[in-house]
Amino acid sequence: MLKIKKHILILLLLCMLVPLFSQVVSFRLTAASESQNIFASELYGAKWMSLNHFFKIFGEINLLNTEDWSLTATLSGKKYKFFANSAFYQINGKWFHLPTAVERLSYGLYIPEREFIRVLALDAYPDLHYDVADGHYILVSSDFSISAVNIKEMKNGTVLRIKTTKAFRKEHCRVWQGNNQYLYISIYSATADMNGLAKKYNDGVIREIIPVMAKDMLQFNIKLRMKIDGIDYYIDQESGDIVISLRHSYQKSQTPLNETEIKNRWLIDTIVIDPGHGGKKSPGSIAPDGTLEKDITLDVSLRLGRLLEEKLGVNVVYTRTKDVFVPLYQRPKIANEASGKLFVSVHCNSVDSSKPYGTETFLLAARSTEKSIEIAARENKVIELEEDKERYEKLLSPEQYILSTMAQSVYMKESEDLAQAVESKFKSRLGTKSRGVKQASFIVLIGPAMPAILTEIGFISNWTELGKLKKDSYRQEIAYSLYLAISEFKENYEKEIKEN
Ligand SMILES: [Zn+2]
Repeated sequence: MLKIKKHILILLLLCMLVPLFSQVVSFRLTAASESQNIFASELYGAKWMSLNHFFKIFGEINLLNTEDWSLTATLSGKKYKFFANSAFYQINGKWFHLPTAVERLSYGLYIPEREFIRVLALDAYPDLHYDVADGHYILVSSDFSISAVNIKEMKNGTVLRIKTTKAFRKEHCRVWQGNNQYLYISIYSATADMNGLAKKYNDGVIREIIPVMAKDMLQFNIKLRMKIDGIDYYIDQESGDIVISLRHSYQKSQTPLNETEIKNRWLIDTIVIDPGHGGKKSPGSIAPDGTLEKDITLDVSLRLGRLLEEKLGVNVVYTRTKDVFVPLYQRPKIANEASGKLFVSVHCNSVDSSKPYGTETFLLAARSTEKSIEIAARENKVIELEEDKERYEKLLSPEQYILSTMAQSVYMKESEDLAQAVESKFKSRLGTKSRGVKQASFIVLIGPAMPAILTEIGFISNWTELGKLKKDSYRQEIAYSLYLAISEFKENYEKEIKEN
């Protein structure tokens, strides 16, 4: 009998305590922040929440005076003071009045939920609102368009989900891998709470996320623990999130690559040759006798490719091998997807005057200036005929240029070395004038994540040079000069890596 009584007693006690502890009021700082449950309790038929707990989570408790049971706390830079059994409270020393007095329960001060929400909205969080679907009060309704980055590690890859609060298009985003185990994601016209997004990870493929705000653009510099094999990204139609999947073999990361393996990755084993122009849409320059640039560039490119395959034993990838149209933006894409280690775009020059002649080789201009765009205008001209003209105009705008060219910019020194080697071989072998190494904003040079050059092998607007360019033997000599330059570059480059 006594035993039963004891049980009933415990049960009764539990029934009394449960409503006291089981209730919470849920908050999030922003819609994307972590959920915080603040202790609450049922009193007089209403929900009361703990001031102590709230200020502990979202603010800072400065003083808990157990003599008069007053609580002083800082929230959003303001001093709040509440008193037990009093309907008066202070913000920065100024008095305000509540409809109900604050109650003291054994472990702190309690206030009716509804009244406290009004207090918060009055001053600290003017945007405070209740998200019905989420069941949370959101303290700050941010205008940030990127609210969070979530990472999901899987067996053969990692998925990064960039949570958005506005719609982005795929063209707004650029994702690429740098050479120092960095992944870069730039999102045009995005904003975010930088501190909230910066994060370090103790394990997994992602080591650290470093958000950087540039003009009109948010960029994530993501430090990786290992090289990734491929990147895909898309916009999730349902949520609007930007989803980036990184393909890699997670197993590999367990056993770090040995030095030889790391070095082998940098060997120039795949060379991408880009024969300028192509197809009916883009014949390139047209010589006075009707010779088309696209035919000369393709022939020289194929000759060069054969030499590289035969003599260097490298893998050669062409952006085209026939007379077909390939949009400019696709050419670097082909190169990157093939994991190319060098990119060589072959073109012929043409100007209104028939006087100029000789060769010149370009690397990408470091800045987008009127002059650099003007020089590149003829080769970029084909964008007029492409459907997505805007895509390119944005790329070239001075604000976005630095970011669009980031993939290439890390290889500028190598690109310049290669361009120098090419011009020097042309000079010594072709018997024509070398006009030197130059820089310009060629669209085709923007994207490749590898050393990249655009070589103008001669002026088809000059009769003498046109005559030479039409000869098989001369075109073979051009190809051979390019092969020698690449071969020399490859040797120097790989030697440097082997020594390091
Ligand atoms: Zn051209």
